[in-house]
Order: sequence, then C-alpha cells, then structure tokens
Amino acid sequence: MYLIILCNRYHFKIRLKEFFVVEKLWFGDIELFSASYLVKLKELAGVTAIIPDNYRTHNAGYKVSEDILDRSPFPRGWPEWPESKRALAAQDGIDLVPTYAGIAIQSDDTPLLRLMEVCDKAGIQIYAHSGMWGYAGNIFPDLGFLNIYSERIDKKMSPLAIPLCPNEKSVIDFEIKSVADVMKRYSLNKLDFDHGHYPPLANPYGLLGCACWRCRKRAGELGYDFDAMTEAVRDFHSKLKHITASLLETVYTSANSYKDAITLLGADKELFRWLEYRTVVVSEHMQKVSDGIINALGKTVTINSQLITPSMAYLCGQEVGSWAKSVEYVTPGWASHVGWLEALVNNFIALADLLAKTAHVDEEFALKLIYRIFSYEDIAMPTGIAGLKDYAFDPVEIYKKEIAFADAAMPEGGKILYPFDASLITKGRMDEIADVIRSFAPAGIVCFNWGKDNTDAELLSIGKC
Ligand SMILES: [Zn+2]
Repeated sequence: MYLIILCNRYHFKIRLKEFFVVEKLWFGDIELFSASYLVKLKELAGVTAIIPDNYRTHNAGYKVSEDILDRSPFPRGWPEWPESKRALAAQDGIDLVPTYAGIAIQSDDTPLLRLMEVCDKAGIQIYAHSGMWGYAGNIFPDLGFLNIYSERIDKKMSPLAIPLCPNEKSVIDFEIKSVADVMKRYSLNKLDFDHGHYPPLANPYGLLGCACWRCRKRAGELGYDFDAMTEAVRDFHSKLKHITASLLETVYTSANSYKDAITLLGADKELFRWLEYRTVVVSEHMQKVSDGIINALGKTVTINSQLITPSMAYLCGQEVGSWAKSVEYVTPGWASHVGWLEALVNNFIALADLLAKTAHVDEEFALKLIYRIFSYEDIAMPTGIAGLKDYAFDPVEIYKKEIAFADAAMPEGGKILYPFDASLITKGRMDEIADVIRSFAPAGIVCFNWGKDNTDAELLSIGKC
C-alpha cells in the first residue's frame, strides 16, 4: 500500500483498477428494465447494476415499515393533502409526490419485486435509490431552509430545488432509518443517494442560507463566527444590488475564476468562510447518514451520492474532496434541475439575466464574463441566452469539461462514476464519449437514458468504457 501511495496519480488509478471491479450502472425508469433489455444492457454495454427510479415517486417504489413512517418528520397521506399543498408541489414540477428526504411513502412494490427476480436471473445488481434533504423545503417549511433575513421560502426562491435544513436531526434520522429499513426488507446491498446539496446556483437566493437556529448552533460548534458570516453575506448581497457596468468590466479583465470575481465584487473573508461552512455541513450530513445506515445494517454496503455539476458544486455546498470521503462513489446527477448539463445551462442563463438587468449591460457581455469565471471560454458557447435555451452548443464538450473538473478536484483514492449520457442529445457520439471517459481510467460510469431507444451499436460503444 505504501508503494502505491508513493506512485503518481496515474499509476495509482491503474492499481486501483486492478483491485476494484469497474462499476457500470444504468439510471432509468423502472419500466425500462424488461428482461430482454437487461440482457442487452449486460451483454452489449457491460452493465453491472441498475438504479431503477420512478419519475412520480423519485424512487423504485418500496414498502416501508409502518412504525418508521409513524415516526417520520413528514406528515402521512400526501395524496389526501389539501389542494394548496398540491399546488406547491406542482410549482416544483412534481406530480403530487414531493421528493422526500429518505423514503416516506408506501408504494405498490410489485414492479420492484418483479424486477428483482429478472435481475437475479440476469446477474445484474440493483441499487436502492433515495432523495436527501435537498428538496421539499417549500412544502415542509418547519423543516426548511431559512435565509439570512429570517425569511422562509417565497416566490423568488421557487421552483429550483428548495432544500430542508441540512442540520435538522429528525430528517437525518429518518434518512437513515427509512433507507436502512428498505435495504433490509429487499436485501439490497447498494445505495444511490440524490439531492444532498443547497439549491443549484441558478437560484442565487440559495446562497443566502440556511441560517436557521440549528445552523447557527452547528456553526458555533464547528468554530465559525455565525454573526460575522451572515453579516458578510448581507453586505455582499447589498453590494450586488448596485453593481455597475464599469465594475463588471474590471471583473472581466481581472478575474480568472468565480472566486476572483466574488473578491472583486467586494466580498470579505467571512463570505468565503460562509461558503466553506456550507460545504462542511453538507459533507458532515452525508457522513452521518452513511455511517448511520452502515451501523443500522450491521455491515458495510456500497453507498453512492450524486454530485451536482462540478464547476458549480462548491457554490451549492458540495466540496468534492470532503464529499467523496463520506461515500464509496461520487456519481453524476440526472434531472432537470440537478443534471450536470441542465444545471449548468440554467445557471448560466439565470446569472447572465441577473447581471444584465442589475448592471445594465448587454447579455452577450454578461455571458462572456460568466464563461470566463467558470472556465468556459475555450469552447464554443452561445453568445446569447436564447442560444443557451435552445441548447445551441456541443453537449459532449460540456461533459468533457465537467468530467475534467471532477477528476481534478477528486482526492487520491476517491472514486467517481462518470456520467455517460446515452440520451438523444448525444446521438452519434457514443464512441467519442467512451474514449473521453476511458482516458480518465474511471472506477466506473453511470449511464442515463430514460427511454429504450439506444441501438445495439450504441450499447456496444458504451461497453468500450
Ligand atoms: Zn438550518
């Protein structure tokens, strides 16, 4: 082992590959995984395990022990809730069922039981899948995000993934108990966690919290000066409301990163402490939940967690180095607000719009500035917001860049399962994506396609990773 540590990073990865089976996962709707398609996924693409999901319940559809649901921090019987609560859920694009932290609803598990039988025959493993605290704060406000002005969620925060408070103990306990219960009940030894982050940066108001009493208490215990940090955030927020075109010109000519830009826009060190504090809390939450599940099961199990787009992850509270230590694998997110591609595009659109309106600059300049500070100047990106909305760019170039960001931020020994988007947007590019991923000597990949439209040739390309 000592010799391995002495080796350079490349050799370290090669050695890791000799000792660890490469994981090749497929994240998709539970209906996708028919017996015949699973055989194809295994034989052609080399898929070793699947993460079945259901867009309505955000998990594969489990039964949970009644006594655990009775002690859940979330009220029972969501579908019977008043219309006003349903309307809140609909704002998040959710069809009746919010994305819970843990597994908080009873489902008909017939599809899952059928899938388990088929997977058993095919020699493919199944991951349990659950959300974390990153959603539903607007639906359960007592457990939710509070900003530095002591405001709960209002319309300007919605609809981008409003979190619960990451320091709420009842939520942490429920994530552990409900997920461990499901893993025991179905004898699942692998788990994929989603939504362990503050709002995507496309909702910049997410940077203003969580500043509730629980977070104040935890910050103090961790040695942070909560009052100094929140005062710095208030001050910076106030400065941002009055930025001028000439200040943005200075940022454009002098900043090479978003951290440079934040400094030039007037941030002091306590604002950076605030950003750091948020990453500490988020990693700590993940570690507590991982340890709790392993303790409850009485054995080691594989736990993955989903990282938001690497170039903006730190600003959403995910610091790759500490995050990676709390789980076996770091994996990509796949969804409209948190997928690597979607979150990035939404982020660029929202920030460009904000800068253009606040400083009265044109959106082309705002985007040039944003591409510079997020290191996107070297690939062809749209010059206007309309181009971003139309996805008038090369998605493979964005994946290449984000994979490189994740790899660079990963500590020695940390393992990433890289994203392999096998959906329509990357049609005809599968060999190229496989080449890119292979060049990073990956611990594995997570493929994504909600539909069943990949050809045999494409599945063979995925098999080359
Ligand atoms: Zn809080």
